[in-house]
Amino acid sequence: MSKDLIPASNFAIIGGSSTFSLNFPEDLSNDYANLEIKDSDMFFSTPYGETPPFKFFTIGGKNVLTVKMHGWRHGVSRGQASQQVFWVLQQAGVHQIIVEGGVGAINHLLRPKDLLVTSDYLDFTMRKDVGLGGQHLLIMRDPVCSKIKTSLLQAIEENKPVYARVFDRGIYAVTDGRHFESRAEIAMLKNMGADIVGQSMCPEVYLAREIGACYARLDMVVNYAEGIVEDWKHDELKEIYYGEAMQIGKILLDAVSLTEPRKRCECVELRKETILK
Ligand SMILES: [Zn+2]
Repeated sequence: MSKDLIPASNFAIIGGSSTFSLNFPEDLSNDYANLEIKDSDMFFSTPYGETPPFKFFTIGGKNVLTVKMHGWRHGVSRGQASQQVFWVLQQAGVHQIIVEGGVGAINHLLRPKDLLVTSDYLDFTMRKDVGLGGQHLLIMRDPVCSKIKTSLLQAIEENKPVYARVFDRGIYAVTDGRHFESRAEIAMLKNMGADIVGQSMCPEVYLAREIGACYARLDMVVNYAEGIVEDWKHDELKEIYYGEAMQIGKILLDAVSLTEPRKRCECVELRKETILK
């Protein structure tokens, strides 16, 4: 088992399906003179098993750790993979986390390639006990950091394709996967108020809170959920993933550049010492 040392980093970017086709961030080097790759193919040993490969880079002097979460690894559950990644982020001293993902549209007003800075969630996963052993009381009143959200919205405005619409809120229904949902499940989630559906916001958002980090995410609509508007086509899904990846990558890098390293943030107040000792 390799034993790379975990570099100190304030920022982390967790890549999902929208940047999966990209060699991130190297493919964007031509657009960012202040981007410097420090290390790649870093595997870390954690109490939850060996991690997927991380990269470490700087942009404008800010340290950033990045890892791709999409892609299932044989014998590693999605919850376990999240524990591995967030354990590393905790060791690195990460305080600000930006995540991207591809989602299905449940709200029939959404359409493919729309962008959301998601604001809340409904957790339908069976993995609510996925933690890092911390004893804090985690308050999920405002799960998304307002400061990073502001940076993301500004970065989107500077990079978004003309056909993409931007939403500064949205409720994300989280399912386990790896299969997609049935029509009946989507009808239920719609009745419950969900706008989009995906598989990553939970347990990530709990783990971010547990390690005392701010969390915000950029979600791109890649298809209609089952039973919404029209049946989606595999070719279109693939075209969106490959066609939009560079723009999503730029938004992520610009959002880091626009975000001040954390000094004070209301997110910190949403993690309290436990009262049940
Ligand atoms: Zn915050």
